[in-house]
Amino acid sequence: MLSLAALVLLQPQANVLATPEPGFRRPPQTVPGDKAVKILFLRTRYADDPPTLVSYQPDLLDRVAKRIDEYFRRESYGLFTVGSYEISSLFRVAAKKDYIQIHEEAGGPPIDKHKPLERDAIDGLNQATNRHVGQIFDFICIEAKNPGQRNFAFAASKLSFYPSAPNEYAYFHELGHCMGFGHSNALISEVPGETLPPRDSRYIAEYGDHASAMGAVDIWAYSLLERYTMGWIGDSDKYPRYIKKFDWGENSFVSHDQVSPKGCVGGYVEGRFGIEAAEYRRDKTKRIPVPGADEVPQRLWFSLLTTGGIGRNYADLPRPFLLAHITGAAFNGNKGLLQQDNRTTVLLDLSPSDNPQDLRPISKGLFEGQSATIRQTDGSAITVKFLRYDKTDRRAVIDLRLEPK
Ligand SMILES: [Zn+2]
Repeated sequence: MLSLAALVLLQPQANVLATPEPGFRRPPQTVPGDKAVKILFLRTRYADDPPTLVSYQPDLLDRVAKRIDEYFRRESYGLFTVGSYEISSLFRVAAKKDYIQIHEEAGGPPIDKHKPLERDAIDGLNQATNRHVGQIFDFICIEAKNPGQRNFAFAASKLSFYPSAPNEYAYFHELGHCMGFGHSNALISEVPGETLPPRDSRYIAEYGDHASAMGAVDIWAYSLLERYTMGWIGDSDKYPRYIKKFDWGENSFVSHDQVSPKGCVGGYVEGRFGIEAAEYRRDKTKRIPVPGADEVPQRLWFSLLTTGGIGRNYADLPRPFLLAHITGAAFNGNKGLLQQDNRTTVLLDLSPSDNPQDLRPISKGLFEGQSATIRQTDGSAITVKFLRYDKTDRRAVIDLRLEPK
């Protein structure tokens, strides 16, 4: 008979932050995954703005802050929240043309090339309030209206910028960069019916993951991998939610996108898939790094989506679907931690189109009853079949088979 103490030890820990495997950790300067974060919305106005063009109004930013809190809570199973936020008064900075580089190179790394708009605004606020806001806040969102320009963030830093019309969704993406996420890309096959063809017949679609806030955001949520790297999901059954290495044959797991999933929420098999450290975009002009992919084995991850994310108020999808991502076995690797591109994730298209004209820029999963085959470099193949879905606990059963050459 078990004593009470032993019973307590056998229970999974309460809602605690997990530590991901070393290769899957985020840069050390990023915000901890169990924090009640403090956000500063720093409102600015260019000296040459027409009087009618003002920065975003506080009531809009109030609404945004509440939505960010709602989103973080849900994605993190209650671990990560907005503890407090502040909306600054309106700071007049220099003329728009003085900050031209920031806009021309939005999203790039030109931190030393532009006149730093954020520095002007932060210095102004520090002086006005006799504080060091950089030490107080976890995220500083610079609000400077400049219609037509893209929002962006400096990866793994506190700073994000919202020159285009802000809505809460823009913040879910840009703050994701601040938390250390790269873009969620997709590997698109140009061969009908073949998920992972040779390198000349495939390409990377940047933002091609339709089910991540860091991708094409058909569904506004963070992916299994993004949640795992935050520590919101563990890697063993001592956590309430965890990923694990799957066996060949049947595997069963619940969706990670429900309010409080219990048990295994996804997992992976390892193999040699031939994904290179940098894969070409469709136009073959640029290669996009795939983190850890020059290492073998690589990991083929499976997860299940059952809701439409915050954009659809987490309503149930009419048909839940299975997703597959590929990473290296050491996803972030030990190198390039500050390079946003080196922390991208890659979703596979499990149902490549039979129509060669229809090369989709986004990647899709499998519905119940469907299967896909993923070729390995030695000629063998892994077949995954989505066998069953049980609505009561949002559980998928999949079959994984290794088929020799
Ligand atoms: Zn981005």
